[in-house]
Amino acid sequence: MNWIKKTLKFGEKIKKILKKRPSRHDLDNSDWTNCCKGPVLKSDLEKNLWVCDSCGKHHRISSIQRFDLIFGKNNYQILDTPIPAEDPLNWNDTKSYKDRLKDARKKTKQNCAVLIAKGSLDGINITAASINFEFIGGSIGSAEGEAIIYGVQQAIDNKTPYVIFPCGGGQRMFESPIALANMTRTTLAVNELKKNNLPYIVCFTDPTAGGITASFAMLGDIHFAEPGCLIAFAGKRVVQATVKEELPQDFQTAEFLEKHGFVDKIVHRKNLRDQISTFLSILLKKNSEVVSEANETSGLNIQTREAS
Ligand SMILES: [Zn+2]
Repeated sequence: MNWIKKTLKFGEKIKKILKKRPSRHDLDNSDWTNCCKGPVLKSDLEKNLWVCDSCGKHHRISSIQRFDLIFGKNNYQILDTPIPAEDPLNWNDTKSYKDRLKDARKKTKQNCAVLIAKGSLDGINITAASINFEFIGGSIGSAEGEAIIYGVQQAIDNKTPYVIFPCGGGQRMFESPIALANMTRTTLAVNELKKNNLPYIVCFTDPTAGGITASFAMLGDIHFAEPGCLIAFAGKRVVQATVKEELPQDFQTAEFLEKHGFVDKIVHRKNLRDQISTFLSILLKKNSEVVSEANETSGLNIQTREAS
């Protein structure tokens, strides 16, 4: 057997090995997932708030799981957000955008990547938004932009703080300029929150990148981040090629950004609820108008919280 035949045989062997690897679909439907020590049962991970016991990796969670964690199961209300015209550019590449939307909805049981909920945290009514990475990479299109803005409007109408859990790769290319316009729209909406003296808390989750970082996710009064999460605008390799410098190992991680002032505090998932609640009570105390109005309308009682 000459060397060409040997190489071809070796190639076939590799192909067979690759074929045996489970697909993304298989992994999603399996009871197992992967972490530092190999396969781990999803049910075990779930008991630990989807945080690995050994390496501390905070695995991605859905919007519903996020709200369950913050408010407690069945202790919040999901709001119906506006649904703008679908697929305005009639986008088609290897698959049509309409089909991608259909698949994402089936997979996540969400209409768009953003879910808005209202609930209560230690007696403080809040409006919360969470982005689901499983919905087309958590990208922001017109429906997602509308949902975020709708959440802001709800927060203003009900005089509640707004807490957002961003995640995702940025603006959705299938809606090109319309998706980009939502960077401006969501930024203007956040400014309205500030004009109304309502606290706006951002809690970065892995990964937050592109237009999400460059718009509503960097405008919080307080920026929390889950440990180890990626927070970036352009990718590391792109930045490296532009500045032509070797970048640090931990570049664009929550820890790096905390050191450089973009992130205020890194909070373990199990402490997130308490941290948000504590900071909100501090921020609300500073704002007598919101506190007194909230007291009248929602029974928020800072004095009681102080006493307890
Ligand atoms: Zn691990």
